[in-house]
Amino acid sequence: MPNLLEIKELHAAYGTTGVLHGISMNLREGSITTLLGANGAGKTTTLRALCQMMVSTRGSIQLGGKRTDGRATEDIVRLGVAHVPDGRGTFHALSTEENLKLGAYLRRDKAAVADDFERVYSYFPRLRERRQQQAGTLSGGEQQMLAIGRALMSRPRLLLLDEPSFGLAPLIVRDIFEIMKRINQEEKVSILLVEQNATLALEVADAVYLLETGRIVLSGTPQDVRDNDAVRRVYLGE
Ligand code: ATP
Repeated sequence: MPNLLEIKELHAAYGTTGVLHGISMNLREGSITTLLGANGAGKTTTLRALCQMMVSTRGSIQLGGKRTDGRATEDIVRLGVAHVPDGRGTFHALSTEENLKLGAYLRRDKAAVADDFERVYSYFPRLRERRQQQAGTLSGGEQQMLAIGRALMSRPRLLLLDEPSFGLAPLIVRDIFEIMKRINQEEKVSILLVEQNATLALEVADAVYLLETGRIVLSGTPQDVRDNDAVRRVYLGE
């Protein structure tokens, strides 16, 4: 498979504070790629840099052969990138359905949008049951489902997921990871996953990058990464 995303020598900073120091990554079309790293390594910043949100960047980012660095976030969404931020970013005062509708706000193909509500509800039947409920009153797991569902409503080629397991009970995390895998396979959506839960992240990933203080220090298949002693000690708790 060709690369969907090619990141070359990407630097990112908040004001004058540099966080990413020239990272390069390739994501194959159709793959799940996991970005691992300790707290503060710059994982969230990497996802923000890919959508040109909140950070200034230098270096090149190409999606399907088109440069996206330096473009407006809205253009990047139009090109097929959907971001599920840490903290999920759902609108608490709006209903489940209204949140999903917002995910499709740039789309003109209204008939297809109606079908996509059905697709999202088929992945997440709980959201259908709760479609009139205020998002702020959903459980943590339901809010994570809503955040992923909303991202799907933009029909992305690439889904950026920032710690979907954060704060959730293990059984719900399992469910969400299984649905994520199905979405990857059935919708042909490529996924870049940031996760603290390294064990689970390595189970679903096709490729892995390890970030340390703003630099990629290791990359390969999940097995390559598991074979690394330091990773086993620090990230897998062995
Ligand atoms: P975590 O797993 O703890 O979320 P992370 O790997 O995602 O960590 P980032 O959130 O990308 O790390 O943070 C990297 C560095 O950038 C940290 O030192 C953090 O304090 C800093 N940082 C993050 N957001 C901002 C911001 N809005 N303004 C200034 N500095 C920031």
